Amino acid sequence: MALLAGLSEVHFKQAPDENDGDAYSLAPNVVVLSPSAQNLPPCQLAFVIGHELVHIAQRHFDEDAIALSVYSGKPPYWTRDGDDAMQLADGDFGLALKLSPLWKQQEREADWLGSLLAAQVCGCSLEEGALAYFRPGDGDGGGIAAAHPPDAERIRQLLPFTESARRLMALAPR
Ligand SMILES: [Zn+2]
Repeated sequence: MALLAGLSEVHFKQAPDENDGDAYSLAPNVVVLSPSAQNLPPCQLAFVIGHELVHIAQRHFDEDAIALSVYSGKPPYWTRDGDDAMQLADGDFGLALKLSPLWKQQEREADWLGSLLAAQVCGCSLEEGALAYFRPGDGDGGGIAAAHPPDAERIRQLLPFTESARRLMALAPR
């Protein structure tokens, strides 16, 4: 899946618990899976990993760091460390609100491209993968600056890709 996403090297790590969700990614190329993720049915796990690989492949961390620097009015090259830029949004709701459309766009991209990666590499339909993974009403939330839209919205945005996933499933190795 990583190769299809154009990534030559990805490291997988195990989280000690679910405090940060089922899975997340770290710059530049780390996917962290919690114990709960590892117990997911195979196609739901494929979707979750696909989603995180898209964040890495599309360099969303770098995109965030640049946007945060610009929106916070920092001069160019105020830091060489993306982590410094990421800290700017901590406790700064106004800045988080400015970044919110970018975060939501990144999550949408990770959802649909991750679903298609799972289809082409693992033969997973959207129904078995993302649509089974999201459960509306469960864990929805976050404020108006939250990166992830509610599950029902993520499902609605994914439905148009059902047919694309079906076609890509035919390419999966058996
Ligand atoms: Zn994400």
